[in-house]
Amino acid sequence: MDELRHLFRRAADHAADYRLSLPDRPVGVPVDQAVLNEAFAGPLPDAPTPPERVLAELVAAAEPGLVATAGPRYFGFVVGGASPAATAADMLAAGWDQIAFNAVTSPAAVAAETAAGTWLKELLGIPATASTGFVTGGQAANTAGLAAARHQVLADAGWDVERRGLPGAPAVRVFAGAERHATIDRSLRLLGLGTDALHPVSTGPQGAIDPDALAAALRDAGPGPSIVCLQAGNVNTGACDDLRRACDLVHRHGGWAHVDGAFGLWAAASPTTRHLVDGLETADSWACDGHKWLNLPYDTAFAFCARPDVHAAAMSYAAAYLVGSGGAPAGADLTAESSRRARGFAVWAGLRELGRDGVAALVERCCALARRFADGLSAAGFEVVNDVVLNQVLVGFGDDARTDRVVAAVQTDGTCWAGGTTWRGRRLMRISVSNATTTEADVDRSVAAIARLAQGIGGELVH
Ligand SMILES: *Cc1c(COP(=O)(O)O)cnc(C)c1O
Repeated sequence: MDELRHLFRRAADHAADYRLSLPDRPVGVPVDQAVLNEAFAGPLPDAPTPPERVLAELVAAAEPGLVATAGPRYFGFVVGGASPAATAADMLAAGWDQIAFNAVTSPAAVAAETAAGTWLKELLGIPATASTGFVTGGQAANTAGLAAARHQVLADAGWDVERRGLPGAPAVRVFAGAERHATIDRSLRLLGLGTDALHPVSTGPQGAIDPDALAAALRDAGPGPSIVCLQAGNVNTGACDDLRRACDLVHRHGGWAHVDGAFGLWAAASPTTRHLVDGLETADSWACDGHKWLNLPYDTAFAFCARPDVHAAAMSYAAAYLVGSGGAPAGADLTAESSRRARGFAVWAGLRELGRDGVAALVERCCALARRFADGLSAAGFEVVNDVVLNQVLVGFGDDARTDRVVAAVQTDGTCWAGGTTWRGRRLMRISVSNATTTEADVDRSVAAIARLAQGIGGELVH
């Protein structure tokens, strides 16, 4: 066996050993970051090191600091675990070392993205004519969608923002639910619109935008360039905005409706949850993650735009050359990056592995397991504070201090991992069920561990 083959096989073996250990390994491990940093530190070597040795050193240094986020009992941050075929495809993408810039640099990468984009739109119920940018995350997808929005609302006002920039431009108003994801604010900063452009709109009891409040805000604002950021999947509750009603309001006002559906857009993939995102097809742009609920590798996300020409006008640096050339915008025309990893291979492989039924089953199983979590923790005497409509569960353990202590205890215990959050002024545990490999037994085991730890803490705090 030649050396390169041996090296790649060893890397693949390490990856497989790690994945196979996930169901049993402690989820969160207490790590001394300084010790871990030390394992990687040291002077930059003068001389080359043989690749085999580099790999062995890397594995030894990294292993103690790996977090089992890809495993079945990690319930933090709405993360999934990359599926077998998608992971293997991503390994190939590294091996093939393709540049997904355009069809000249990698025809195969562009073909995979094109096919995967078609499948994604079909699964999500996004119009087949929409464009799909393969971006790094929900943040980048929101930025691309809002860049397209910025282009169009200013073009409607007679302003070419790509050429003239924002100085002297008509003011753009941005309306978004008060419980929007924080990445919306960063996208607005990066696009030069600034967070002062934001008009927060009040939300209902579960965090979805209040359509009447949106209607009033648009009416009060009067005519002028307007962008409305809607949400499918509140990061705390999983609640989705009434997209049909909201998009209708936005369009009657002449504005652009962008949907941040980083994980919640996947509700569309199952007939049991599709109603939560009813009307999503009427929006103008959509942001959706692949590396959360779809269980694809990081960094995988999608920026969809109903108007490919607008998408390319906002993002491509060759838009003028492309428009009218007959070539559909693809690859780097639709993203902020030019040279890019060929992440479309993993997307194509993950979707092919699951199929339409597999994606629906993934969504349904995670929702059912979230309800099982909620039922189990309620039965154990704890307070579930949200309507569990999707894969998110919010749990209170009494006062804020006790809840924080329970969350901290769960994170160090290692049976499972859940994060803390502040929602409606209260500290809560946030549980997201997003991993395709999570079983009922994993949930039951996690409920038992959480109850055991909480009871221990409750004893101390009774007085
Ligand atoms: C996670 C999330 C984001 C950000 O996505 P990244 O992939 O982490 O960049 C944006 N919006 C919502 C609703 C999210 O859940």
